[in-house]
Amino acid sequence: MKSEFQQKNTAHHFQPFSDNKELAEKGIKLISKAEGVYIYEDNGKKYLDGMAGLWCVNIGYGRKELVEAASQQMTELPYYNLFFKTTTAPATNLAAKIASLAPAHMNKVFFTGSGSDANDTNFRMVRRYWDLKGKPTKKTFISRKNAYHGSTVAAASLGGMGYMHEQGDLPIDGIVHVDQPYWFAEGGDLSQDEFGLKAAQSLEAKILEVGEENVAAFIAEPFQGAGGVITPPDSYWPEIKRILAKYDILFILDEVISGFGRTGEWFASEYFDLKPDMITIAKGMSSGYLPIGGVIISDKVADVVIGEGADFNHGYTYSGHPVAAAVALKNIEILESEGIVDQVKSEISPYLQQRWQELADHPIVGEARGLGMVAAIELVKDKATKERLAPNAAGGGVCRDYSMDNGLIMRSCGDIMVISPPLVITKAEIDELIEKAKKTLDDTARFYNL
Ligand code: PLP
Repeated sequence: MKSEFQQKNTAHHFQPFSDNKELAEKGIKLISKAEGVYIYEDNGKKYLDGMAGLWCVNIGYGRKELVEAASQQMTELPYYNLFFKTTTAPATNLAAKIASLAPAHMNKVFFTGSGSDANDTNFRMVRRYWDLKGKPTKKTFISRKNAYHGSTVAAASLGGMGYMHEQGDLPIDGIVHVDQPYWFAEGGDLSQDEFGLKAAQSLEAKILEVGEENVAAFIAEPFQGAGGVITPPDSYWPEIKRILAKYDILFILDEVISGFGRTGEWFASEYFDLKPDMITIAKGMSSGYLPIGGVIISDKVADVVIGEGADFNHGYTYSGHPVAAAVALKNIEILESEGIVDQVKSEISPYLQQRWQELADHPIVGEARGLGMVAAIELVKDKATKERLAPNAAGGGVCRDYSMDNGLIMRSCGDIMVISPPLVITKAEIDELIEKAKKTLDDTARFYNL
């Protein structure tokens, strides 16, 4: 018998990215509070949040300073728009702060409400750029298979997830996809570096196929997040950089997950030594305390799109929302003043990655990989042949459910299990995460009689 609350949820709540019928049958967990790296169900069950919510609570839960920043801003000025030759102090101050942390050639920030509409902004801004440059044929975007760039029409089209394209007749025209650098599943007999080069060269082949004069931009995540923490081989990004330098196309780096410290740098563009024209941001920008996203824009693009005689007819009611911006600013100030990003680089991410590698010894793990504060394991039945644990990636759901039983939130991306914990996680909490992950793998192996 479902509780009254469960029934209300089933009757009225259409949940995103969920099997709503399964939720109706099996019930749903009600998360009611959180502190540090832990979240709690209303029945008191405690979970170590290995996913920082949805890759976003970089600063951890329960920071009172963010609550105070929101409360103060809400009292003074809960809302005002940026359209009427007006701005607000939080929007301007946040733009300046982000520009100060971004690569030197990027000095402008356009605010949105989320990562999806930030990528829609990129879509329109890139096409506007080429129109203004007098090259209107440059309209095609090249993205990667298995990428995730959001759920709006343009963002889902830019993404490379087959199961999203199947619905709503996507991608829209003008978006094509190239290979992802997913060595474990697609590398075959090639070494990591050979495969990294091959995957990168699929970009060049596509540019030649479409015609340089028709290609507007290449968009990619520094490492694919929702695709299963696909970390590129060392050879991949240098080759992409070579190709991008050769052809006249813009480069959008989607740092919605990687931005604001997740790699141990403020932005992964620094981690991988990349020079994008646009960087998509959201999530860790406010540590998820309030919704906000944006695009960091290079001088090269800004000088054209809002340069002499130009304009860009685009914006959102909640662009730079003052309360969200005030919270994001406070979040960034704390990440900076407490040295959290530096700490991730020098101590916490090396420790996390070192301990995570222990999982590679487990009989149902084909590979353990990661960088910074993200990591993944591949679930297999047979380490040597890489045969997947179960048909249709069902092993991921089984493993995720055991993980929850064991008080650890891991996400299943198909049958790849991933983590992306708050950046403030301690070494003792990492130890707890690893022990719970090991127990979860044992439980999953037992379920499959392995
Ligand atoms: N880009 C990347 C790389 C993401 O991981 C996500 C969300 O997970 C998005 C864009 C979309 O962001 P949002 O869900 O805030 O619209």
